[in-house]
Amino acid sequence: MAEKREKGAEQSGGSRARTAQLRRQKRRKKLIKVWTYRAIAVLVVVLLGVGVFFGVRGVIRLFGGGKQNSPYGLPDYVKEEYLTVNPYSRPGQKLPGGVKGIVIHYVANPGTTAENNRNYFENLKDNGDTYASSNFIVGLEGEVLACVPVDEVAYASNNRNDDTLSIECCHPDETGQFNDKTYASVVKLTAYLCNRYHLDPQSDVIRHYDVTGKACPLYYVEHEDAWQSFKDDVKKAMDQLDADETDSETTKSEDNGTVSASTAAE
Ligand SMILES: [Zn+2]
Repeated sequence: MAEKREKGAEQSGGSRARTAQLRRQKRRKKLIKVWTYRAIAVLVVVLLGVGVFFGVRGVIRLFGGGKQNSPYGLPDYVKEEYLTVNPYSRPGQKLPGGVKGIVIHYVANPGTTAENNRNYFENLKDNGDTYASSNFIVGLEGEVLACVPVDEVAYASNNRNDDTLSIECCHPDETGQFNDKTYASVVKLTAYLCNRYHLDPQSDVIRHYDVTGKACPLYYVEHEDAWQSFKDDVKKAMDQLDADETDSETTKSEDNGTVSASTAAE
């Protein structure tokens, strides 16, 4: 009997232990479940945050506000390959009077690339053949090189070097007419610069010819109508840039819930 009782006590003791163990297991399972839900929730919040961050960044980049890598704030399509500061092509002198105009040139060397012309300017530092350079060169593929920073003097436009930026344009043949890709890039770049410096393309965009009477850019000196069309195209491109900016500003304003008529009307 005593033996039996002992056995019974042992049995009930064993079942108590098992119940406690079961309860512990249950509690552990419940804890695991709770923490799993919490981890999933945190993960979802983190993923949403990352998504919103990259989404917003993408939108900003889309509207051109995200580029931080140009020290001069130039658009993405401009490749900055500045010349070494030297007396022959990059004197390192700041534009004393700011930017009052844009001067268009042609390289007068058919078939040469933007890079060829850039290297020619760069090599002047060693051979000292002449004084020459340009703030920008637009190539046959429409590529845009920046050779002298927009706040420095380049040697391209004689007595207008001190208050203008110069754009040298590549061309496929002796006529000096720009091909479609070059033309499109020169229009785009000139429009950008006119907007940036508040210039009027009809009066502030000029040819080298208008400074010195030199037949540069040849085709657009010989074809006055083509030159007029170029300036008209620059004006159209400026209006387009304004429209794009207004669109992005309106979008930004809408995001903030403060659409203003003045912003939209600009
Ligand atoms: Zn010229």
